[in-house]
Amino acid sequence: MTETAFTPRVFSGIKPSGGLQLGNYLGAIKRFVGMQGEMETVYCVVDLHAITVWQDPAELASATREVAAGYLAAGLDPTKSILFNQSQVSAHAELGWIFNCVARVGWMNRMTQFKDKAGANAEKVSLGLYAYPSLMAADILLYHATHVPVGEDQKQHVELTRDIAAKFNHDYKQDFFPITEPVTEGPATRIMNLRDGTKKMSKSGESDMERINMTDKAEVIAKKFKKAKTDPEPLPETVEGLAGRPEARNLVDIYAALNDTTPEAVIAEYAGAGWGRFKPALADLAVAKLSPIADEMARLMDDPAEIDRVLADGSARAREIANPILQKTYDIVGLLRS
Ligand code: ATP
Ligand code: MG
Repeated sequence: MTETAFTPRVFSGIKPSGGLQLGNYLGAIKRFVGMQGEMETVYCVVDLHAITVWQDPAELASATREVAAGYLAAGLDPTKSILFNQSQVSAHAELGWIFNCVARVGWMNRMTQFKDKAGANAEKVSLGLYAYPSLMAADILLYHATHVPVGEDQKQHVELTRDIAAKFNHDYKQDFFPITEPVTEGPATRIMNLRDGTKKMSKSGESDMERINMTDKAEVIAKKFKKAKTDPEPLPETVEGLAGRPEARNLVDIYAALNDTTPEAVIAEYAGAGWGRFKPALADLAVAKLSPIADEMARLMDDPAEIDRVLADGSARAREIANPILQKTYDIVGLLRS
């Protein structure tokens, strides 16, 4: 089966597992907003994924609204896209179960993110953390999504989604689920931790100094970039000169992504510049781009009822697509509804 048999549709999600960070904005939200109007777009706050690690109940509700506010403040238009939180559409959990019965344990054992997140503690983490990629496959395939914009770290899970779709189609002898394409492009597919250029920036990372939060004030952004780890060399004359310099590469990538340009163009402008010149320029750019979004997020968070209304409306529209696909899946599997 080719993907062209399916109407192009985008699905992606973000976990309310903490405050949004710059990598979520550049690697996900900004790109999601850019895809609006190109195809049908469905964006989710994946709260069922967040609880794979402990979340304080009161904070989870607030973090769910904050991720929704981040999407809206960054330009997501709820009349152009469907915006909702996952737990309001129960079909996600239901299809997730079916995919737990399609995915193989051997496939799950290859997921590098589980290994990273579980670390030495693999016996003590939740079963949900281990199984979450099959729920993610359900999130995507419940909408017959053909394209999933994600950061580099999620590519393996989209590949697993393709394997699940292919196995389901093969086992039940039906070309029912599309073979979804991961969409990772641009300079910001993997924004790194500001204190360790070998680790990805994450909401749930230990230290606040390793990430820029979307709600950070101007002084905090300036301080975090000033203290960001670098090597002592100035910026090179060409991008090739960034090879083997992960922290320098990361700061150039962040600048390029914030400014809608390429690392080549950034190097052309700052070739030979020291950190004393580049870091304040980067901080000014980040403040100019992020503070209007932070202000709008704060305004939206002052009116939680309005966010809840947007999510309720999005959930109803999501159910209209998802429920018939779930019912058809039940028919294919042979689950009796009398
Ligand atoms: P957590 O630490 O709880 O896993 P996270 O910051 O990794 O949080 P997710 O909700 O897991 O955020 O991911 C949401 C989206 O943001 C995904 O598409 C993911 O690929 C993207 N993303 C997350 N971190 C980065 C990053 N550092 N660079 C680029 N994209 C990122
Ligand atoms: Mg993550």
